[in-house]
Amino acid sequence: LREKIRDLEQSLSQKYPPVKFLSEKDRKRILITGGAGFVGSHLTDKLMMDGHEVTVVDNFFTGRKRNVEHWIGHENFELINHDVVEPLYIEVDQIYHLASPASPPNYMYNPIKTLKTNTIGTLNMLGLAKRVGARLLLASTSEVYGDPEEHPQNEEYWGHVNPIGPRACYDEGKRVAETMCYAYMKQEGVEVRVARIFNTFGSRMHMNDGRVVSNFILQALQGEPLTVYGTGSQTRAFQYVSDLVNGLVLLMNSNISSPVNLGNPEEHTILEFARLIKSLVGKSSHPRPSHICMFVCLQVPLEEGLNKTIHYFSRELEHQANNQYI
Ligand code: NAD
Ligand code: UDP
Repeated sequence: LREKIRDLEQSLSQKYPPVKFLSEKDRKRILITGGAGFVGSHLTDKLMMDGHEVTVVDNFFTGRKRNVEHWIGHENFELINHDVVEPLYIEVDQIYHLASPASPPNYMYNPIKTLKTNTIGTLNMLGLAKRVGARLLLASTSEVYGDPEEHPQNEEYWGHVNPIGPRACYDEGKRVAETMCYAYMKQEGVEVRVARIFNTFGSRMHMNDGRVVSNFILQALQGEPLTVYGTGSQTRAFQYVSDLVNGLVLLMNSNISSPVNLGNPEEHTILEFARLIKSLVGKSSHPRPSHICMFVCLQVPLEEGLNKTIHYFSRELEHQANNQYI
C-alpha cells in the first residue's frame, strides 16, 4: 500500500509520466542498450510506464539524453554512458539489445565501429545474459535479407547479401549478431529472441537520415518541393514506432526463440506518401500529442502516425531555430 500511495503521489506531482504499480514478483530489472535512440527511448517509455526498473546504456553516438531526460531522477530509471564494445557488469532479468547505428549515413560513417558494435557489443551482451541468466532480445533488421530475391521475405529466407558491399558493415554485422545469439542459446542455454525490424517512423527519428519519410516531412515543413525520385510508383511499408515497441515487448515475453519479422505489411507508393504528407502539413492542425505516446492502440493508422511525426519535426525545427545563436 505504501508503494501504491507513493506511485500515486509521484504521478500527481506530474514530474514524471504516470507509472503503473507492479508487485515485486512482476517487476523486472531491464537493460536497454541503445535506449537513448529513436526506438530505444520509446521502449524505455513503455517499460517505465509499465512499472519496471529500466537501465539505459548508451554511448550517445546517434542517441541523445533529451530522448529520455523526462525519466532522469526517477527511482526506477538509470542512464549509463557506456559503449557496449566494452564489457558491462550489472544484474538484470531481461536485455533489449538495440545499440547500433541504424540509418545508412550513420552506420557507414564509421564501418569498423559499426562492425565492432554489432559483433563485440553483441558478444558482450550475450556474455552478460549468460552470467546473470537474463533473456536477451536482439534488434536485428530486415537488412539481413540484403537485396532480396524473394518478396515478401519470410523468416525462412536466408537472404542475398554482398559481404563486401558498402552496407556490409551493418547487414553482415547483424547477421553475425544473430549467429552469436543462437550459438549462445545452443552452447550455453541463453534464452534469446531475435526481432528482424522493418522500416519504422515516428517522433525522435533522425530528421536528417536521408530516408523518404524524414525527407518529405522536412521538405513539406520548410515549404520546399518534395523530391519524388522517378515516377514515385515504387512502394514501401512503414510501421509506427509504438507498434514496433509493442511487438518487441510481446516477442520478449513470448516463447518464440526463432527470428520474427516485425513490420507493417501494408505497402504504399512513394507518391501516396508525398501527397499525404503534403496535405497533412498543409492542414497544419496536427493534434498536439502528449510528449509521450500512451501505447493504447493496437495499430496506429498511417495518417495518425504521420501527424505525430510531423508535429515532432516542427517542434524540433522550432527548437533548432531558437538555439542556433547559443
Ligand atoms: P538510433 O540510432 O536512434 O539508436 C541506436 C542507439 O544505439 C543510439 O542511441 C546510439 O547512441 C546507441 N549506440 C550505437 N552504438 C553504440 C555503442 N557502441 N554502445 C552503446 N550505445 C550505442 O537507431 P534506432 O532506429 O533507434 O535503431 C535501434 C535498433 O533497431 C538498432 O539496432 C537498429 O539496427 C534496429 N533497427 C531499426 C530500424 C528502424 O527503422 N529504425 C530498422 C531495422 C532495425
Ligand atoms: N525517395 C524519394 N524521395 C526522397 C527519398 C527517397 O522518392 O527524397 C524514394 C526512393 O527512391 C525509394 C523510396 O523513396 O524508392 C525509399 O527510399 P529510402 O531512402 O527511404 O529507403 P530504401 O530505398 O532504403 O527503402
